[in-house]
Amino acid sequence: MALISIVVPCYNEQEALPLFAAELGRIVGEMGAEFDGLSFEAVFVDDGSSDGTLRALKELTGDGSLPFAARYLSFSRNFGKEAAIYAGLEHARGDYVAIMDADLQDPPALLADMYRAVTQEGFDCAAARRTTREGEPPIRSFFARRFYRLINKLSKTEVADGARDFRLMKRCVVDAVLSLGEYNRFSKGIFGWVGFKNKWIPYENVNRAAGESKWSFFSLLLYSIDGIVAFSTKPLAIASVSGILLCLIALLLTAYIVVRTLLYGDPVAGWPSTACIILFIGGLQLLCMGIFGQYLAKTYLETKRRPIYLVRETNIEK
Ligand code: UDP
Ligand code: MG
Repeated sequence: MALISIVVPCYNEQEALPLFAAELGRIVGEMGAEFDGLSFEAVFVDDGSSDGTLRALKELTGDGSLPFAARYLSFSRNFGKEAAIYAGLEHARGDYVAIMDADLQDPPALLADMYRAVTQEGFDCAAARRTTREGEPPIRSFFARRFYRLINKLSKTEVADGARDFRLMKRCVVDAVLSLGEYNRFSKGIFGWVGFKNKWIPYENVNRAAGESKWSFFSLLLYSIDGIVAFSTKPLAIASVSGILLCLIALLLTAYIVVRTLLYGDPVAGWPSTACIILFIGGLQLLCMGIFGQYLAKTYLETKRRPIYLVRETNIEK
């Protein structure tokens, strides 16, 4: 018997959950018929929702009508999707563990392909990758593409464009992901960092089944900065190199001004250029201090060793 656990982070998903459970039930039935000796469990993580998500979860998991074992954890507040994924992975008991969004943007139908990849094709994990960004605002797609280009230039860890958190992993990969106990979790980077043999399964973007996305443009921007800080220290190197370059330029300019004054005298002029230079250098200094600050802040948060999440309520026995 092999057990597949499905981790489902849920934040204000009361409309989407019944649809999700029905679709997952259908897939579980199909996979049960195709592969022998498979059983399923879902681990729903309610990430401090403010709507009826917890009630919906209790209804779904309480009456035993689902064709798979269903358990839930409910956080004491909203800790973010990364924390929900971590909690779900910690509580998943399966030999294989999948992560799937509750809004059906991760088509559960791909699960069978993923299972084939890890059991028959020799991969350790299989992950879904969107081939299109249709249905997304064009400006968001534009910045998302720039972000992936940038982070892959800055970081040695591969962060795949279009990759979702939707994936199926063998136990060894799950344990590797859990062994990274950092507080600032950037899953896309963590999955790349742990390595292992991964198969990308392409699919076309699907829109949300119900409810709305929790991400605003600004929250995505902050998330992208978190990702870069978590997986690259190159911005620090860029800050120091730009400091060195500016010192060199300043030396050359000083020499030029000294020579020019000796040859032609010193007519008082040039305050606009001085003002520009002061503004430029001031801006650059603030930028570099901001970069240092980002790393310092992350280090500060890591050193506190706070728990990644806190559970308020669950039906999972220890
Ligand atoms: N989610 C979560 N905590 C959060 C935000 C989102 O657990 O703070 C869950 C959400 O319920 C969904 C998944 O993460 O199952 C993806 O969220 P969303 O659909 O808003 O993101 P998008 O698909 O737009 O990237
Ligand atoms: Mg979504």
